[in-house]
Amino acid sequence: MSARPMQFVAPADFKARARAALNDDKLRSSFRGAMDFLQGKRAVQFPDADELEQLRDLGEAVRQHALARLPELLAQLEDKLCAAGVHVHWAETADEANAIIHGIAKAHGARHVIKGKSMASEEVELNHYLAARGVNCIESDMGEYIVQLADEKPSHIVMPAIHKTRADIATLFEENIPGTPYTEDVDALIQTGRRALRQAFVEADIGLSGVNFAAADTGTLWLVENEGNGRLSTTVPDVHIAIMGMEKVVARLEHIVPLSSLLTRSATGQAITTYFNLISGPRRAGELDGPRELHLVLLDNGRTQAYADAQLRATLQCIRCGACMNHCPVYTRIGGHAYGTTYPGPIGKIISPHLLGLEATADLATASSLCGACGEVCPVRIPIPQLLIRLRTEANRDPAEQVAHPLRGQGAKYRRGERVIWRFWSGAFAHPARYRLFRWLATRLRVLAPSQQMGWTQHRTPLKPAARSLADLLRERDQPE
Ligand code: SF4
Repeated sequence: MSARPMQFVAPADFKARARAALNDDKLRSSFRGAMDFLQGKRAVQFPDADELEQLRDLGEAVRQHALARLPELLAQLEDKLCAAGVHVHWAETADEANAIIHGIAKAHGARHVIKGKSMASEEVELNHYLAARGVNCIESDMGEYIVQLADEKPSHIVMPAIHKTRADIATLFEENIPGTPYTEDVDALIQTGRRALRQAFVEADIGLSGVNFAAADTGTLWLVENEGNGRLSTTVPDVHIAIMGMEKVVARLEHIVPLSSLLTRSATGQAITTYFNLISGPRRAGELDGPRELHLVLLDNGRTQAYADAQLRATLQCIRCGACMNHCPVYTRIGGHAYGTTYPGPIGKIISPHLLGLEATADLATASSLCGACGEVCPVRIPIPQLLIRLRTEANRDPAEQVAHPLRGQGAKYRRGERVIWRFWSGAFAHPARYRLFRWLATRLRVLAPSQQMGWTQHRTPLKPAARSLADLLRERDQPE
């Protein structure tokens, strides 16, 4: 596999890719079917609206409680894990995280890494970083394995290969796994993938995984999965490295229980996931399995920017269930790859500006009708529409304006000419005499309205003032204005 720079595609080209996705009939019909299926499965899991709302209250409270004490909880988690023999590393950037993991691999002379599902490792593009340094990293989650074979990014945070049809996967396996005949039989495809991965588990020097939640009081890493590959990745190789976004910690182990219920029911429509892996240290004397060495990499990569802002901090409540994506009218039409970011859909629009800066991601926040579906299904009540509006404001803020917590890329969409037009507009509407003059001029000079009005006229007729204003019509009928 080739080494690539961060981001396979640039989020800044979002509009062009969204247009291409909208013209792709195959992608649109497969996404529509998949999203309808997932929406239906989630609805079945929450038949009682009152129970759902109570659980959402609890989920929100747990996440907000943890974020309010984040520095303290992270320190507590580190102390607990270190006492249990875990090596804890802090990574401020993606490069730092990659360098730490590569350093561990180098120290062990490792050449093969087997990886459970981890969006944090996708975020830092670990596979390509390691490949460029001679370390082969194999994805063991079936969906991740498929997108890795296709040299693509996941198009969904829970179901990475959701954009692939059976025929796509059959062709991919036939071309990439020696001795595999073409078949669209799902069971046969799964068995083929499993056989290929079994060998990778045997050969792996290091197992790598993500972390869904971490409990500060017990020093427990909590992993949620369905395939058993996470358990194998974290127990078979002698060295296990877990990588975790620093916001995933909660105060107490019992706080994870409602979060796990919300996660699995919202994500895949399962009452409960197949495996919960609770990890609290490396193999102890007398134990027959488990890694002999365990590392945790705590990743910042822009999260402290969100944390510093009282409103944007809610972004970090996310438990990565993907429900906002499954219900978003934009995501369900264009799919995940159009966004060009590791996290697509509504959650991607609110987290990516912190990871990559508004320079690259300002267009994402505008790809929303603000219908509110994302906020309504979010199991931890993140006010996504409000955060989108805030990010739009920051992208249009004067870059020179001094604010308490400036976002990276503040003012990426700022245009001085546009600002002047809006000032003029608000000035005209703020005073009755000025408004009347503006109205009189607009109706008289309407022929001067341009026929091309930027994005507006791409799909609509140009805006043109009416020949007679509403006030004129009322006056003709002797009605008060
Ligand atoms: S923002 Fe909410 S709905 Fe979306 S992935 Fe995160 S927790 Fe799930």
